[in-house]
Amino acid sequence: MKKELLIATGNNHKVEEFKQILGSEYNIKCLKDFDITEDIPETGSSFEENALIKAKYCYEKTGIPCISDDSGLVIPALNGEPGIHSARYAGNHDFNANIEKVLNRLKLSDHREAYFICIICFIDSSGAHYFQGKVDGKIIKECSGVEGFGYDPIFIPNGYSKTFAEMESSEKNSISHRRMALDKLIPFLNNREN
Ligand code: IMP
Repeated sequence: MKKELLIATGNNHKVEEFKQILGSEYNIKCLKDFDITEDIPETGSSFEENALIKAKYCYEKTGIPCISDDSGLVIPALNGEPGIHSARYAGNHDFNANIEKVLNRLKLSDHREAYFICIICFIDSSGAHYFQGKVDGKIIKECSGVEGFGYDPIFIPNGYSKTFAEMESSEKNSISHRRMALDKLIPFLNNREN
C-alpha cells in the first residue's frame, strides 16, 4: 500500500505539481482532505521559516508526514524582491498585479537576471528536514504564455527561449525549482523507509 504524504499548501497548482512528481509512489493528500481551510500565517523571515511553519502546523493537526514548500522569485537587481513576499508582492495572490509591479520596477534595468527558489520542508516524528531547489533565468519585458501560475509568464529559464508559461506542465515540472528540491527529497524519503 502506498504511504500517505500530506502536501501542506492551499495552492492547487503546487498540489498538482507535487502529485505529478510524487503521485506514483505516494498516496498524496491535500489540506482539503482534512478540512484544513484556514490561512496558515506565513510570519517567518526566510523561505525556510515559512516552510517550517506550514509543515509543522499540518503535522501537528494530522500526524501524517507532511511536506510544505515555500517558494518565490528572487531578483538581485531589486535587492532580492519579491522574495518571501512573492505571493503578496502587490496584491494577495493577485498574479497580474504582482507581475505588473515586477515589470514596473525593472523597467529601466538591464539587469534582468532572476531565480526561482523552492525550500521544501519535510516533517515527521524524526523532526524537520529541508531540501532546496533553484532555477536561474531572466525576466522578460512583457507576459508570454498562459500555462502555470504566478510569475511564469515573465520568467525564461537559462538555456530556453520560452517562458515557464509557454511550457507544457510536464516540461516545466522537469526543470523547475520544485523539481530540483524534490529530486533531493525523494532519495531521502526512500532511504528513510528502508
Ligand atoms: P508560497 O505559496 O508562499 O510559497 O508563495 C509562492 C509564490 O511565489 C507564488 O504565489 C508565486 O507568486 C511565486 N512562485 C512560486 N513558485 C512559482 C512558480 O513555479 N512559478 C511562478 N511563480 C511561482
